[in-house]
Amino acid sequence: MQKETYLDDLAVTELKGVGEKVAEKLQRLGIESVADVLFHLPFRYEDRSKVVAIGALQSGTSSLFEGQVELAEVVFRGRRSMLVRLGDGTGFITLRFFHFSMSQKQALQRGQWLRCFGDIRSYGQTIKTEVVHPEYELITEDQRGQVDGGVLAVYPVTDGLNQATFRKLSRLAFAMLEQGFLVRDCLPKQLLQEHAWPELVVCLQQLHCPTSVPSGELSQIPAFKRLIYEELLANHLSLSRLKQGVDHFSSPQFKINDKVQRQFLEVVGFSLTGAQQRVVNEISTDLLSAHPMQRLLQGDVGSGKTVVAACAALMAIGAGYQVALMAPTELLAEQHVKNFDAWFSQLGIEVACLFGRHKGKTYQAITEGIREGRSKFIIGTHALVQEKVDFNKLGLVIIDEQHRFGVHQRLALRDKGVVGDLYPHQLVMTATPIPRTLALLGYADLDLSVIDELPPGRTPVTTTVLSISKRGLVIDRIKQGVEDGRQVYWVCTLVEESEVLQCQAAEVAAQLLTAQLPDLNIGLVHGRMKFDEKQTVMGQFKRQQLDILVATTVIEVGVDVPNASLMVIENAERLGLAQLHQLRGRVGRGQRDSHCVLMYQAPLSDNANERLTVMRETNNGFKIAEKDMQLRGPGELLGKRQAGFMRFKIADMLRDAELIEQIADEAERVLVNNPKVVEPLIHRWLGNSVEYAHV
Ligand code: ADP
Ligand code: MG
Repeated sequence: MQKETYLDDLAVTELKGVGEKVAEKLQRLGIESVADVLFHLPFRYEDRSKVVAIGALQSGTSSLFEGQVELAEVVFRGRRSMLVRLGDGTGFITLRFFHFSMSQKQALQRGQWLRCFGDIRSYGQTIKTEVVHPEYELITEDQRGQVDGGVLAVYPVTDGLNQATFRKLSRLAFAMLEQGFLVRDCLPKQLLQEHAWPELVVCLQQLHCPTSVPSGELSQIPAFKRLIYEELLANHLSLSRLKQGVDHFSSPQFKINDKVQRQFLEVVGFSLTGAQQRVVNEISTDLLSAHPMQRLLQGDVGSGKTVVAACAALMAIGAGYQVALMAPTELLAEQHVKNFDAWFSQLGIEVACLFGRHKGKTYQAITEGIREGRSKFIIGTHALVQEKVDFNKLGLVIIDEQHRFGVHQRLALRDKGVVGDLYPHQLVMTATPIPRTLALLGYADLDLSVIDELPPGRTPVTTTVLSISKRGLVIDRIKQGVEDGRQVYWVCTLVEESEVLQCQAAEVAAQLLTAQLPDLNIGLVHGRMKFDEKQTVMGQFKRQQLDILVATTVIEVGVDVPNASLMVIENAERLGLAQLHQLRGRVGRGQRDSHCVLMYQAPLSDNANERLTVMRETNNGFKIAEKDMQLRGPGELLGKRQAGFMRFKIADMLRDAELIEQIADEAERVLVNNPKVVEPLIHRWLGNSVEYAHV
């Protein structure tokens, strides 16, 4: 017997009957070691240990029952099927077969006893109970009640592997445990005691081979909860380990120059909100320390993240370092250039920019300025991460709308600033609020700052939901609005991803509006226009030369026209909550009351109806994000960041929120007290799906 051999370290092919072929299929489920078999957990159970009286069968369960054939008939209602009516003195049930042979029907003579197992369904007002394609066997009256099937686990399966295979594999793995092989218990004893969770092997036994079907939700059973906890912890560790690594890196230290900050705020012309001031303080503490800042700044659209970023930039520039700001679109980057230039030019700081459209001599000149350190503050799109771009002394990287970028792009920019063992600081910003539980797990490698207060003088946007059949009303409203001096966004959406079609739709909408509102000035922007054309139209809108701006969802991010106070979104039911929220954030930026009309095409799906209702009821980005997570799931919310993360095997971000709250502290403790288990835990639950080499 091999003492101290862990099943975690034995390939699954060590199990009897598992050859290359099966191993390959298992691998698709992430099962590579013998221990992985044990962590492939059942999601429900079948109770074959007792016969349930037909009258007591519960809809929605899988049950074993016995009864006597009353009638077996073939019917042709829509589809040819065989119905078998079965009774046991307590009630009746119908077995329905779509595939059957005549000899099968022959055997089902009136009076014949059957033992069946299947999923019970009830329907109709008179409550008929039915089972489609049950397993069944013929029995004699004497054999009634003589069952010894026990409780069977039901596993998630994949092509070519059935329940029987998984039941056999787990039996074999447990047999190895009995022979003395081990499975690594990665949770500290104290934690198990606190929660009254059983030891790992006991948990696994209870889940794979229970003696009775656990009552209630599986996720509430201690044995299962413990494993959910492990999975959540593994996810957290995979990120917090990265963060811990970075905490050992060094970075330049920037002192705040109070005079420059004061000057800057004078230039800006308003004072910071309490929330902005708090975040600036958090950032300056980071920038003063000798370790790289890794901060995620969350703030709803219009909460004023840009000035905060500017304060951070000034600290770095003041210390003689370069700052790079990367934005996901040229439109947004260009807007930043304008804002920052208006502020910084008065402080004698030049703003450089680098976009994909810069070619030839211009490109040479810009990149030379960056390389030689003449440009201190550089704004750009992902053009900044091109190989040819070298920095002179990059001390701070700012990423706007970080969810639009992959982690790799962020790291590529960061790496341009690594000199010797000094790493630049990073500030990543997002206007898509992240629900707390998601942030705790999905962003464990970053420190969080939240601007949870809007600048003064904003009035919340009033949102109306209208069927497209009321378009006439909307047109009247626009007319009225423009007479009152308002400007209007008209946003077109399309289901297809195709940009061409989307732009065509916007063109058609613009034509239609021009016909209906001949006295108004109507402009159009869409993704296929040249950059200069877009800029021209946006400029006209900003200067109030246009009353209506018809746009595709390209205006989603960053466009700032305070006088625009009415937005109409066509086919709003097609958009997700995050996108609707971003779009709506384009209005409500000025002093006037603002309105948003969400037009939809009936009939609305339940999900779409819920989305539109949430939009009507709240302007709070965090509430909207919570709802979004419920409707779409956390993976979608994380966007490009999700590579490897948040695809849980058994945990659930919503259901297990309470556990998630506890994870961060525990992860810290594990990293300090028990670093040896980190790697095995991550490997167990995330396998090879962790892609990042470093933060
Ligand atoms: P976002 O967080 O969406 O990037 P911005 O930084 O673009 O928001 O700010 C939105 C608008 O609010 C800008 O016009 C900005 O000048 C203004 N603003 C920001 N902070 C304040 C403040 N403290 N007081 C008044 N206006 C502010
Ligand atoms: Mg912004």
